[in-house]
Amino acid sequence: MNTAELRLTAYCKALKLPTVARTYKAMARDAETQGTGHVEFLAALLEQEVLQRDENGIHSRIRAARFPYPKTLDSFDFSAVPELNKHKVLALSKGEFIQHRENLLLIGNPGTGKTHLAIALGMAACRVGYRVRFYTAAALVNELLAAQREHQLHKLEKQWLQPHLVVVDELGYIPFSQTGSQLLFTFLSARYERGSVAITSNLEFTRWTEIFGDDKLTAALLDRLTHRSHILTMNGESYRFRESLRRQHEEP
Ligand code: ADP
Ligand code: MG
Repeated sequence: MNTAELRLTAYCKALKLPTVARTYKAMARDAETQGTGHVEFLAALLEQEVLQRDENGIHSRIRAARFPYPKTLDSFDFSAVPELNKHKVLALSKGEFIQHRENLLLIGNPGTGKTHLAIALGMAACRVGYRVRFYTAAALVNELLAAQREHQLHKLEKQWLQPHLVVVDELGYIPFSQTGSQLLFTFLSARYERGSVAITSNLEFTRWTEIFGDDKLTAALLDRLTHRSHILTMNGESYRFRESLRRQHEEP
């Protein structure tokens, strides 16, 4: 390395420009052969740094969201759920509902793609810059119960509003204890009008008392959740079930 290169490397380090440090040589060579002007070259060089930073941000937000596995809207077969409004889902993927602190409720039979959509929309939100956190309802309630036992609930409360969107998956598979219900209610109330939640459930609203075990609490919760919300009902046949039937049919 000549002295200019050594200086450049040191400045990139000081200014935290790893992409510039990595790409300047090849880009300078290209600029020279193509006769690109200095300003144009510098703009292209810095653009690389910005693009890489955006990409890194997306990846770190997706990591922080702790999705159980990745899912995308591209791999979602809308023709399998004709009752679902594709335009509505694509509009939701732009994340405007999160900016407006609105909620998303995905209600329907098992295997109809609720978790798939919740993850895909969560990942789309990460892409446009939102902080997201994915929980299963059971894991969230367990975390709340543990925090309460250890007298850490107050500390945790501050973190509840950190994500712009909290996904609560599989509400309704397991009924909660009275304390669990109350803690989940407290959690969702704390986020009310302050941040979005996306909930998936196999139970229609009229049956939510079965999850929370209390009429009044359920009514209050539903009132808050549905106040500013987008409700997607997905009550078709199970995609999983249909796929396995199709595979069995294809196999000799
Ligand atoms: P649910 O959460 O409603 O029980 P999932 O989202 O877990 O259902 O879907 C079950 C499986 O079927 C997943 O692997 C999911 O990716 C797939 N799946 C469901 N619906 C669709 C769909 N419309 N297009 C593509 N894959 C789907
Ligand atoms: Mg699911």
